[in-house]
Amino acid sequence: ATDSNSSNKRVLLAKPRGYCAGVDRAVDTVERVLDKYGAPVYVRKEIVHNQHVVRNLRDRGVVFVEDTEEVPEGALLVFSAHGVSPAVREAAARRNLRTIDATCPLVTKVHKEVNRFARQDYDILLIGHEGHEEVEGTSGEAPENVQLVDKPEDVDRVEVRDPSRVVWLSQTTLSVDETMERVNQLQDKYPEMQAPPSDDICYATSNRQVAVKAMAEECDLVLVVGSRNSSNSKRLVEVALQAGATSSHLIDYASDIDESWLEGVETVGVTSGASVPDVLVFQVLDYLSERGWSDVEEVTTANEKVSFALPRELRKDLDENP
Ligand code: SF4
Repeated sequence: ATDSNSSNKRVLLAKPRGYCAGVDRAVDTVERVLDKYGAPVYVRKEIVHNQHVVRNLRDRGVVFVEDTEEVPEGALLVFSAHGVSPAVREAAARRNLRTIDATCPLVTKVHKEVNRFARQDYDILLIGHEGHEEVEGTSGEAPENVQLVDKPEDVDRVEVRDPSRVVWLSQTTLSVDETMERVNQLQDKYPEMQAPPSDDICYATSNRQVAVKAMAEECDLVLVVGSRNSSNSKRLVEVALQAGATSSHLIDYASDIDESWLEGVETVGVTSGASVPDVLVFQVLDYLSERGWSDVEEVTTANEKVSFALPRELRKDLDENP
């Protein structure tokens, strides 16, 4: 690739990318709560892991808190898309908070699996990233039964009471390939281990990985729009590199692009994590276009039609007090 031959400059744009149904619902929930009740609206943790979304909502009067203790007694609190443990719900109830739960239904599904297997007294090996909010919520459903498996060496560390009553479950936003490696390792250790009743890695996570894989090999550079604390966005960078992209970077905004990344580059791949509004992707496309990458081809590997209804407690309020 040479800089002088600008005619070979092109952009491959992954589809699907960006907002998933769970993020769309969570952001919509907070916006409607703002419209209905006015500021301030309290949200526990970032509603979704995206800087831009959080900044926008903060400007409109949302107060993000780390802990229920920071919320005034009796106020309205929204739980974020990543879910909460029963202990957090109890703490909110003790403060008489009115809660609206924007947990993604696909995260709730994993909570239910944890509960079901814990009731049957299984040891649950939860594959996920240490310290991620989703994992804190999920394992909080049955802390006695759940052990977290993050790194390869964690597999050696786990111990179960009865190797015939073990199940693995996972965080929703992991790398599909890396998770299967961890599962194989666990399977070697516990041949009778059961698998989740259905995929825990959600459709949006796996679809975005398939899409970036499909174009990575052709790309000299893959730009992934997403925030540092967004698990699924970070995985897209890793997947792009594993699938053959020469380089890949995670950026929140077009302004994060370092000009030097573009040196000698012909094909730029662009995608975005599940918490990223498409406006940020268009800003990246504008940036590239200004520098000669105006030929954009969308690479489509799936068409998503998933959508989720708003939380029941909010729908009720919206209906009852129009
Ligand atoms: Fe739900 Fe998946 Fe989106 Fe997370 S990434 S909010 S689990 S659809």
